[in-house]
Amino acid sequence: MNNGDNIRNVPCVLVFACLTGLPALAVAEDSPAGDVSSARMAERIEALSEFGKNPEGGVSRVAFSEADIAGREYIKKLMREAGLDVHVDTAGNIIGRREGSERDLPAIMFGSHIDSVPGGGNYDGDVGVIGAIEVIDVLEENGVVTRHPLEVVSFTDEEGGLVGSVAMTTGLDDSHLDDTSHSGLTVRQGIRAVGGDPDRLDLARRKPGELAAFIELHIEQGAILDETGIDIGVVEGIVGIRWWDIVIEGFANHAGTTPMNRRRDALLSAAELTLEINRIATSMPGRQVATVGRIRAEPGAPNVIPGRVVMSLEIRDLETAKITQVFDAIEAAAAQITKERDTPIRFEPTGVASVPAPTDERMRRIIAAAADGLNLSYKVMPSGAGHDAQDMTHIAPTGMIFVPSRDGISHSPKEYTSPEDMANGSKVLLETVLAIDRGELE
Ligand SMILES: [Zn+2]
Repeated sequence: MNNGDNIRNVPCVLVFACLTGLPALAVAEDSPAGDVSSARMAERIEALSEFGKNPEGGVSRVAFSEADIAGREYIKKLMREAGLDVHVDTAGNIIGRREGSERDLPAIMFGSHIDSVPGGGNYDGDVGVIGAIEVIDVLEENGVVTRHPLEVVSFTDEEGGLVGSVAMTTGLDDSHLDDTSHSGLTVRQGIRAVGGDPDRLDLARRKPGELAAFIELHIEQGAILDETGIDIGVVEGIVGIRWWDIVIEGFANHAGTTPMNRRRDALLSAAELTLEINRIATSMPGRQVATVGRIRAEPGAPNVIPGRVVMSLEIRDLETAKITQVFDAIEAAAAQITKERDTPIRFEPTGVASVPAPTDERMRRIIAAAADGLNLSYKVMPSGAGHDAQDMTHIAPTGMIFVPSRDGISHSPKEYTSPEDMANGSKVLLETVLAIDRGELE
C-alpha cells in the first residue's frame, strides 16, 4: 500500500524514480492543470442535476428515461462547446473526439457515465464526465494540441449492468438486450431511444490496441479517502465478485414439544455459519469482504423449528485466488457445523461471477506521479464497486482515479464531493492524459 503522505517529506521525484524505475514525472510549473476550474465543474454538476431531479436533492436519472435523454443532450452540448466532434455509437455511448497532431496514433479515451440508480445522487459517474470535458476545455484554452487523438466518453446505462462499456469491449449478450431496464424499456428499445442501433452493436466494438489508454475519474463511493483526508485514490483494480445461495437442511418440528437437545434447527446453523463467515473474512490478512445479505427460514412460523434456510453469500476481492481461499475456509466451517448440528449445508453458485479487473500497473504509476506532482496526497486502493473501467481493461491499458465521497455515501441523494476535490480529480486526469501523450506508457 502506498500513500502520498508517507513520502511527502523526502524529494518525491527521487522516491518515484527509485520505487518505480520509471523516469520521474514532475508536473511542469506552467502546467495547464492550474486552469482547471472548480467553479465551472460545480456549476455544470449543478446544471446536470436538474435532469431527473428528485425531491430529496439527488437525481433519478435511470438510463433511457426522459431525464437521461435530456441529460445526454446537455452533455453533447458541453462537448460541442469544448470543440469536440460528437457522435453516438451503435451502443448509445456518447463519444466526443479531438484530433491529435500525429497521424495514425491510437486515441486516449477517458470518461464515465451520467445515468443514475433510482433515487441516486449528483456525483456518481457525473464527476467523471464533467471532469473529462473540463480537461478538454483547459487544453483548448491553453492551445495545447496532443499528439494522440482524445476521446471523451459518456457510457450508456452503466447502472443497468455496464451496458455501453460491455458493448464496446467484449460484446453484449443478446439475452441482455431483452432485459427490462428501470426506464420500463428493454435495453434494446433503450439503446434505440438514445440514438444507438441494437441490430448493429458490432460497430460499437473497439479492438485491443485501438485505444492507447482508458482512464476513468470517479467518486470513491466509500469512506477511506474522506476519513483519512487523502486527496486522490489510485485504483489498483476493480474487485471480482462471486455469489452463492447457501442451503441448510434441518428438520421442521413442533417448537413446543421438541426438547432442545433433539432439534435439527437450520436457522441455528445459519446463525453460526454467518458468524463464521464474518470471522473468516476478518481474520485473514488482506482486504477481502464476505457478506450474508439475505436469509429466509422455512416454513417461517414462530411456533415451528426452522427446517430449511436459504441465505446468500457474496465474496469480493482483487484476486480470484483470495476469493477461492475465503470460500474454501467457509466451506470447511460449514462442514464442521453440519457435523455438530446434523444439518447438511450446500453451496449453490448464483448470478454471474465477475472476475477481478486489475488496472494497468504503469497507469497506476503515472496517476500517482501526476497526483504527487500536483502536491496532492494519494493512496493506492481497490474499488469495491463495479465500473465501466473494468470492461475497458480487456482492450486498453486502464487506470482509475478516485476522489473523496463525503462520509462514504453513494447511490443516495446525500452523495457529495466538494468542488475542490472534483477539480483535483480533473487535474490528475489532465496530467495523466498528458503523460500518456508524451509516451510514458510506451
Ligand atoms: Zn458510477
